[in-house]
Amino acid sequence: MRTKNFSVKKEIIENTKVSSDCYRMTFESKEIAGQARPGQFLHIRCTESYDPLLRRPISVYSIENNIIEILYKVIGRGTGLLSKKTSGDTIDVLGPLGSGFDYQLVSNCQLPILVGGGIGIAPLYFLAQRLVEQCSNVTVLIGADTKRSILCIDELEKLDCKVKVSTDDGSFGLHGTVVDLLRKELNSKLKVFVCGPVPMLKQVNQLVSKYNVSSQVSLERQMACGVGACMGCAIKTQKLKLKRQNSKGKTQNYKRVCKDGPVFDIKEIVWEEM
Ligand SMILES: Cc1cc2nc3c(=O)[nH]c(=O)nc-3n(C[C@H](O)[C@H](O)[C@H](O)COP(=O)(O)OP(=O)(O)OC[C@H]3O[C@@H](n4cnc5c(N)ncnc54)[C@H](O)[C@@H]3O)c2cc1C
Repeated sequence: MRTKNFSVKKEIIENTKVSSDCYRMTFESKEIAGQARPGQFLHIRCTESYDPLLRRPISVYSIENNIIEILYKVIGRGTGLLSKKTSGDTIDVLGPLGSGFDYQLVSNCQLPILVGGGIGIAPLYFLAQRLVEQCSNVTVLIGADTKRSILCIDELEKLDCKVKVSTDDGSFGLHGTVVDLLRKELNSKLKVFVCGPVPMLKQVNQLVSKYNVSSQVSLERQMACGVGACMGCAIKTQKLKLKRQNSKGKTQNYKRVCKDGPVFDIKEIVWEEM
């Protein structure tokens, strides 16, 4: 479902450090709050000037009472500049952009399970906020490298989600990856929603394809325009029902992560090309 998007300049309410390299920022926007769906993103100008030129895509983390919240990790120049902003500074935002998750459950026999690797948890909190409105049995699996980088446990538990955690170094929760956690939970009733680094997504794909579980994945890809014009974020996808077919019985084409995604059915992605 497409939504209307807006270009707004807003005053930052708060920009707080929440871990060694992650920040939460809030601002008020009635326009964006009225339209945004879980899985959509905001294209954010990181300074008042055009340097850096390109906006940076950041998911909507939470919306409550017209307050938009983002959760972001400092990676390079853009997010570094964003982290220097303080309350009262202005932020220039375009959004909400892209497709969101399809989170309507067929009935209460479908169980939602959210799988976030690292900062991949960011779009899943907003999804959890919406899912708990229709289902009392929402499970969230969080994977982090170590205890200090785990994000959002308290917030998700406050929503009454069942939260399970894995860490790569075993300092908290299961010693292993979030895919190991998912392996223990898998059954055909699940509806899986995933976001995280590509190697993790590939493993999730291998796992869920064995069990034919309905799964949607949110992709993080470098993008330039963010609105589908430049094709900078195109990825190879496959259509399952077209007449012209390749040797695997599937027809391939390209889709834009910014406009056709960032959320895709996991079966749609040509994973070997990612
Ligand atoms: C849909 C979506 C949602 C996301 N949500 C979140 C989130 O909620 N939280 C979070 O922490 N991260 C999120 N990310 C990742 C986030 O956008 C990156 O971490 C951020 O853009 C890094 O920017 P940087 O300047 O800090 O890092 P750098 O690595 O310095 O920046 C990336 C570099 O790539 C360049 N670049 C960007 N697009 C292109 C392109 N198309 N072609 C060539 N070069 C390009 C930029 O100009 C920049 O130089 C999301 C990404 C996507 C696609």
